[in-house]
Amino acid sequence: MNTDLTPEEKKLVEYSKDAVVKYNKIRHANGGIDTLYSFLLSDSGKIHDGASYEPNIAHASVCGERCAIANMVLQESYKAKIKSIVVADPVPEVQENRTPPCGTCRHLIWTHGTPETTVILMQYVQGKDGWTFSKIEKYTAKDFYPLPYEPKEGLWDNFQRK
Ligand SMILES: [Zn+2]
Repeated sequence: MNTDLTPEEKKLVEYSKDAVVKYNKIRHANGGIDTLYSFLLSDSGKIHDGASYEPNIAHASVCGERCAIANMVLQESYKAKIKSIVVADPVPEVQENRTPPCGTCRHLIWTHGTPETTVILMQYVQGKDGWTFSKIEKYTAKDFYPLPYEPKEGLWDNFQRK
């Protein structure tokens, strides 16, 4: 793990902190609570936001990371690539380890990124006077997904029993 951020990663982290506060204020004003957010920087330099979607049917839930990726695809097409993605998880107090993406999101970050795509983990804690952010942890897509699931297209096309 490396915690040195590039200038554009720093910008993404600063953007993420402001956005977490902005969205949490909207949620709180409407009777909601903090949630997990994700913010990604695409290869075109655009930032896309995402938040966990937790409806009243549990299996219809969507992770924050996937929400941000879907927004990238919506606005930039499937050709866009993730350069860097932030995962910002609310916790009662800062934990020893930051919250990594779930298995499905690791696969999707891999699919929509490159092995060098950076995955930046942060946690945040709600206090009486606002939100404070933990130190970040930075990994690559490859760190989280060393043996990717990559089905081979056409694998069975010319199959003949031998
Ligand atoms: Zn997930």
